Amino acid sequence: MRLPEFDYIAPGDLGEALKLKNEKGAAAWLAGGTDLLVNLKQGVKNPDLVISLKDLAELEGITEDPGGLTIGSMTSLIEVMQHPAVLDHFPALAEALRSVGAVTLQHYAGTIGGNLLLNTRCRYFNQSRFWRDGFERCLKMGGQKCLVVEDSKECSSVCQSDGAVMLAAYSAMAILKSAGGQRRVPVPDLFSGKGEAPFTLTDDELLTGVKLFFPAEGTGAHYEKIAWRSAMDFPLISAGALVSVSKGKIDRARIIVGAAAAQPIWAAEAERMLVRTAAEPEVLGRAAESAMVQCGGSIVNNLGASDEYRRDMVGVAVRRAVRAAFAAAGA
Ligand SMILES: Cc1cc2nc3c(=O)[nH]c(=O)nc-3n(C[C@H](O)[C@H](O)[C@H](O)COP(=O)(O)OP(=O)(O)OC[C@H]3O[C@@H](n4cnc5c(N)ncnc54)[C@H](O)[C@@H]3O)c2cc1C
Repeated sequence: MRLPEFDYIAPGDLGEALKLKNEKGAAAWLAGGTDLLVNLKQGVKNPDLVISLKDLAELEGITEDPGGLTIGSMTSLIEVMQHPAVLDHFPALAEALRSVGAVTLQHYAGTIGGNLLLNTRCRYFNQSRFWRDGFERCLKMGGQKCLVVEDSKECSSVCQSDGAVMLAAYSAMAILKSAGGQRRVPVPDLFSGKGEAPFTLTDDELLTGVKLFFPAEGTGAHYEKIAWRSAMDFPLISAGALVSVSKGKIDRARIIVGAAAAQPIWAAEAERMLVRTAAEPEVLGRAAESAMVQCGGSIVNNLGASDEYRRDMVGVAVRRAVRAAFAAAGA
């Protein structure tokens, strides 16, 4: 498949890049290109202008302050995965990124910003133009109906980013800049919940980085990914869990389910069930069941595995993630 024609520019100055995007809102930001270039080749995105971020040095690298880490959006997945402070304080983020694609992708191109803003996916959408031409245009392609759920007026494509789940579980903040200023939003608020337009960023905004806050002593976290293959495969379902434990009991829990909807899902009810428990099997079972019920409605048969299987896997992933997070907390 060939790339379509588009104008390309690689500004060396952040102010210039933001000004350009402000003037040409429909332009696309290019980070590592491992998602965007595939989307361009498949004809599911057709920007006239692509603005590369590769020469913007201020978007790269990890800085530490007493409260936490700021990771520039253009930092490669491998740099995040191998950074000593990430391994010390956010090991489950490293785990999640280690499961992205394969080593080549993590080393040479994929960035943390591109991973967080990965386009939502669906088996009717992530196909060649030739394949898609055999069907009516779906909602994500500007058509009138969803090809997965008959009569639905909502696009059911799915956020399959591994990094987004753990960034949300660690309560990271996204740092957004535009020509008009800067704002910070909790990672879950980056997502609109709508498959056809999955992000809340305005046309002129750039993700410059993410801020992570050091978790308290006695906190453990884990990322659990369920996919057909152990490499080069997006999650069918995933779960990120973070628990703070004192005197053998959970004080605070955070559970995020991935690949179940257009956005990572915050399983708040399941979290409440875990508080003041030692994650005993029976409690874990109830929490897992609650997450399955919460996510069940948005899981449809659009990723090459049945919806029943993926619903069941929510429970499995949540149970495994919480159990491992509890163990990692030293409990
Ligand atoms: C074979 C294969 C397997 C893969 N497996 C996985 C997987 O298992 N898990 C997974 O999570 N991903 C997977 N991916 C997707 C992708 O490679 C990774 O998510 C990667 O980290 C994306 O980063 P990138 O820098 O290449 O993003 P790009 O492709 O450059 O960008 C992705 C999107 O984000 C936007 N964007 C990028 N940076 C910014 C920014 N700073 N501000 C605003 N918008 C921005 C782009 O415009 C684009 O829409 C896979 C891809 C391939 C090709």
